[in-house]
Amino acid sequence: MCEIDKYILNYKLIQSFNSDILIKNLIIPIYKDDLFTFCFSVLQEKEISQLLNTPVKTLDHDLIEEDFLFYLNEIEVKEKLYSLSISSLFEEHKSINNFIYSLLTYANNSSVSDIHFDVNEQFFYIRFRIDGRLKHYFNFDKKLFLIVSSVLKLYCKEDITQLRKPLNGRFTKSINNKEVDFRFSSMPTIFGESLVLRILNKANISKNLKELGFSNHSHNLIKKSLTLSSGIILVTGPTGSGKTTSLYAMLNILKSLNKKIITIEDPVEYRLDYIQQVEINEKINLTYHEILKNILRQDPDIILIGEIRDEEALNIAMQASLTGHLVLATLHTNSTCDTINRLKDLNAPSYLLANTLKTIVSQRLVLKKCEVCLGKGCASCNYTKYKNREVISETLYINEEIADFLLNNKDSSFIKKYLHSKGFVFMEEDANNKIRNNKTTWEEVNNVLNQEL
Ligand SMILES: [Zn+2]
Repeated sequence: MCEIDKYILNYKLIQSFNSDILIKNLIIPIYKDDLFTFCFSVLQEKEISQLLNTPVKTLDHDLIEEDFLFYLNEIEVKEKLYSLSISSLFEEHKSINNFIYSLLTYANNSSVSDIHFDVNEQFFYIRFRIDGRLKHYFNFDKKLFLIVSSVLKLYCKEDITQLRKPLNGRFTKSINNKEVDFRFSSMPTIFGESLVLRILNKANISKNLKELGFSNHSHNLIKKSLTLSSGIILVTGPTGSGKTTSLYAMLNILKSLNKKIITIEDPVEYRLDYIQQVEINEKINLTYHEILKNILRQDPDIILIGEIRDEEALNIAMQASLTGHLVLATLHTNSTCDTINRLKDLNAPSYLLANTLKTIVSQRLVLKKCEVCLGKGCASCNYTKYKNREVISETLYINEEIADFLLNNKDSSFIKKYLHSKGFVFMEEDANNKIRNNKTTWEEVNNVLNQEL
């Protein structure tokens, strides 16, 4: 934690100075008393006093240039939130609704996927997750937390007095004239509660495979496998590698009024047209296995079963495939060859595997170099040099030869050797192509590929 976490940034005070001077000289005014303005800065007190035309004292800090630039970015929005946070403590609901609406709008405009509301001994602090990275944005008065928590629960039509049990809900707000869905989760903690709002931005699931970053080669293989009337298509990778988004992109290709498509989801995040989405509900015993067992009676053409969690799920997927259904699923594995091992670990008989498995897509998400500053750091990328993410992937299409290997129980190292000899594009090579095309960096790819499952 850095020194900035010890203060509530007073954006009213910050805004009272010329922002160009603050940004150019890396100065953040923190608070003032009758004599001095106290600041974070790398400059000497005398120099800052001259620049700001007021007596200044400096405070200890461990901020680097990027931190200064980040906290001094978008001062106007932050000042509005700061002022509303103060008035929300004294006024009735108008200010707090305005505060939350401004916060949601700001987050939505900043490509935030999750807003985290937490409390510690001192403050109520807000962090945003952007492109998979969690970043601290604000500290507010601790008293504001309970008010925010109550209002969010009201939006979800939940019991606002319930602080001791986890709650889940959702609500919709019109932001920039668009309906945006939010999914709410609260969890009791030792300091009170932890709240998370997920922003369900429809733009995320309307991206096609190319826009998600699949190479022409992978894209063609996936499209080819989606024309099959039966078989299993697996999308694999660790948690947070964008598997579900890829599956949605595939559903967008498949969806048609002339096909019955059923999904099992936990929970349903995005509502899709023409697709029967079934949400797991353990409370009423509508479990993953219960839905799986009954899904084929719905006369589907295509089923998306989410993660293959165990042997039973794999068996149902293979049976469904054998009886003429296309099955889309995910698996928690590192690579296409690892996937074959994992399926064998789940006791998949080799003849069934050879007959049903059609395609394995293995993927990760890498941060893209910011296109505005080309990796130098700017306001658009929050001075992090990266903005947005795309997939690096490898796609194994099970042709007759590979199906034969599966049938004859060849192990994955044998298959890997074969793939090498055939010029298969492994994920590392796909990543290298992206580095060569200046889309990402070697450091980022290295980071992502070295993460353990
Ligand atoms: Zn940038």
